[in-house]
Amino acid sequence: MSSAAATGNGGPVVIVGAGHSGVAVAAGLRARGWEGGVLLIDAGNGLPYERPPLSKELLKAGAVDEPAVLRKERFYTDKGIDRLAGVTAESIDRNRRTVLLSDGTRQPYHRLVIATGSRARPLTVPGAGLPGVRSLRTRDDALELKGLLVPGARVAIIGAGYIGLEVAAASAAKGCDVTVLEFQDRVMSRVTAAPVSRHFEQLHERHGVRFVFGAAVTSIDGGQPTGGGQAAHSVTTADGSVFPADVVLAGIGILPNQELAADAGLDCRDGILVDGDGRTSDPAIYASGDVTRFTSPIDGVSQRLECIQNALAQADRVAAHITGQAAAEPEVPWFWTVQHGVRLQTAGVRHPEDHVIVRGEPSGGKFSVVYLRGGRLAAVDTIANLADFRSAKRLIAQGARIDPSRAADPGLPLAGTILTGPISNNPDHAAAALTAAQH
Ligand code: NAP
Repeated sequence: MSSAAATGNGGPVVIVGAGHSGVAVAAGLRARGWEGGVLLIDAGNGLPYERPPLSKELLKAGAVDEPAVLRKERFYTDKGIDRLAGVTAESIDRNRRTVLLSDGTRQPYHRLVIATGSRARPLTVPGAGLPGVRSLRTRDDALELKGLLVPGARVAIIGAGYIGLEVAAASAAKGCDVTVLEFQDRVMSRVTAAPVSRHFEQLHERHGVRFVFGAAVTSIDGGQPTGGGQAAHSVTTADGSVFPADVVLAGIGILPNQELAADAGLDCRDGILVDGDGRTSDPAIYASGDVTRFTSPIDGVSQRLECIQNALAQADRVAAHITGQAAAEPEVPWFWTVQHGVRLQTAGVRHPEDHVIVRGEPSGGKFSVVYLRGGRLAAVDTIANLADFRSAKRLIAQGARIDPSRAADPGLPLAGTILTGPISNNPDHAAAALTAAQH
């Protein structure tokens, strides 16, 4: 790397957004020897923090009130990373290579990195703005919600994705009366197959959580103050059912914060479009993390990945490209959630049309679900099966072809089910081997 490339000829790398990905870009630039300025534009106040605890540990009774910080204050000082807190980027002038900030200043950049993340998709039904109707995205959201989760509180959760289910578990543990209302006919339908959904539904039901599937919420009603000073609410669904609720949480997905890029004319399509190095349609501008859409190097599918692993991996690729260095090999995406103490670990991204094989007996509490696409291992969900999770990450990256009948045998290690010959097209074989996949 030439010294001009290492310093950007005096212009800083400006990073908009101080979530996991933005902070990792800043750290990655320094780790890779970038000697020029690094400026982190942070909309929040206080140090950037970890997000996974917000819907888990932080909600627990007696738990600490602050999520761990991503990096201590000293890290930014020692590494010469300037941080502007409580400031947002308003617009980009691509010709002049400047970004207009909410404090009225105009900041020049050598390279700009947009790591603005995502926001909770808003509920749009009548009454969605009433007090007590919440979403969960930030530390403040989590702390406010935590204060409402008192024993006996009636909690209605809209959406049975990761957020809805993790909050359902925390609420039930605190003695709340929990009802989850979900559009689809099962939990986590976006990310997993039916056997895993059923396992988690039964787990929640054992802890007193009620589910209503096929529930289309039509309004939130109420607004009368209660003894606790909160507004009382009820949630009404399309079939006329009314669910009384003191707290309503909407966990109905996210929207990428792409407006800054879209307004500047960068290519966006449900996410800022980037290549494998995080480059947008402007060579001086990169994007990283939840806000991006890119083509998977593993299976060629256009995707927006909402996970920390991707936020960090993409950040490293951006830092590598800016400093003119080689990036690490693409990693298979992985995800995890914990509900009522049960951990679901996923490697790869399943598609609804994948063949599904169940390894092990869900009622025993330890099993995996293997997803095959064109005979190759595409993804795996594991419950209490770290060995399958670890080996699946490797096998997916290798594009390993799997023998369906052997993969259904939990006694065999996953790596022992690799096929070396041609993939069998025998329908009898396939039918015997593949567990009926209900999506
Ligand atoms: P999500 O995983 O997309 O789940 C939202 C669920 O709500 C979907 O099943 C969706 O169904 C359903 N839904 C949407 N609109 C609805 C409505 N009006 N009424 C009832 N149900 C409705 O999103 P999330 O749980 O809100 O999570 C938000 C983000 O945080 C995601 O990026 C997630 O990955 C992340 N997160 C991750 C973790 C983790 O990795 N452990 C934990 C917490 C949060 P449709 O599919 O039909 O829209």
